[in-house]
This record gives sequence, C-alpha cells and structure tokens, in this order.
Amino acid sequence: MPAKARHEMPDWLLLPVGFVVVSALLLTAPLWIPVAMLWGARYRRRLRKAAESFRCSTCGSVLGAAAVRRADEEWEAYVRELMRKNPGVKFRMVRNVHAICSTCGTPYKYVENESTFVVQSRDVGVRQTDDAGTAGGPHQGQPSPGGNS
Ligand SMILES: [Zn+2]
Repeated sequence: MPAKARHEMPDWLLLPVGFVVVSALLLTAPLWIPVAMLWGARYRRRLRKAAESFRCSTCGSVLGAAAVRRADEEWEAYVRELMRKNPGVKFRMVRNVHAICSTCGTPYKYVENESTFVVQSRDVGVRQTDDAGTAGGPHQGQPSPGGNS
C-alpha cells in the first residue's frame, strides 16, 4: 500500500503551510469577530425588546431592561463563583435565566423564537449569591439546596 506517504507532508512544506494557515486565520479574524458581536448584539436587542413588553406573571410589573441587567449580573457572579470554587475546571454551561423581575425577583427564561419569557425555577441556572452583594434585591427566604461538597 503506497498510501502511507500520501498523508505525510514533507518537512520543507510544514513551515509555509503553517504560515499560510495562521495568517489566513489572522486575516479573517477581523471578519468573524464583528459577525459574532453583531449576532450577540442582535440577540440582546431582541431580548431587551421582549423584556420591555413583558409583564411579570407574579407581580404584574414590566420586566424591562433592568430585569435583563439583573439577570446578567447574577449570571456573571454565578460563573465567577463557579470558576473560583473550581479553578481549572471547564464547564459546559447552559444559561437559562435571562431576566429577573426587579420588583419581585421572579426569574425568567427567554424563548427566542417566540420572543417571550417563561418562569424559570431559580436554582437551575442562576443561584442567589449572598456574598456577591445583590444590592436592593428582595430577600429570598429560601436557602438554596445545599449541594456543596
Ligand atoms: Zn415581578
């Protein structure tokens, strides 16, 4: 079988090929980074728009941008805490809380294709982190289920 040599690149080719691959990635980076950013911005705009027309099913107040911001902050605190407790561990995280009512604290998951929100159980994605200083939030009487090992 002479097929063995076919897959092996001659040594003199490695450097130019590597150079071409790396420069191709570098050259196209300015293209795909804005595309990803635009995609994210579009998603966030739709998310905020949906929040501005959605009334909390618990207290009736409009979620608005503040609810989205609050969910962002809690999510970031949650991720930071997770990283701090488990350094070096890679997590595959699915975010399922995208808005938290700033009046009553009800968490919501954003349903993108219907542009609406559904009530989300609090301890699935974003957990209340007391040490992160959630200023002004209503106090949650329930302790989070202690799964701390
Ligand atoms: Zn509410």
